[in-house]
Amino acid sequence: MNNCPSCGYERNKTDLRCPECGVFYPTIAELIAEEEAYEAAHSLRGRWQKIFESADKKHALLTELKHIVADLSTKVRFTLFVIFVFVFALIITVL
Ligand SMILES: [Zn+2]
Repeated sequence: MNNCPSCGYERNKTDLRCPECGVFYPTIAELIAEEEAYEAAHSLRGRWQKIFESADKKHALLTELKHIVADLSTKVRFTLFVIFVFVFALIITVL
């Protein structure tokens, strides 16, 4: 990172904060922690952990499912829809 994350001012490697806007540069440890937090929030394991740790598991599960559906693109949703219809049609013909 060679520029200030806040204002984009060119960063001096030895500086701890931006001389232009005064914001503190993130340290490596902070970046790693940020990355881990992001990973925990978006990985499947992190999601399960969040559901299991919450007091209201049903509500947490529904919230997570909403997030997953919101993350899906239209293409993925269409593919899932086609699969669902196909399986449904198969079941109907067998019955
Ligand atoms: Zn700055």
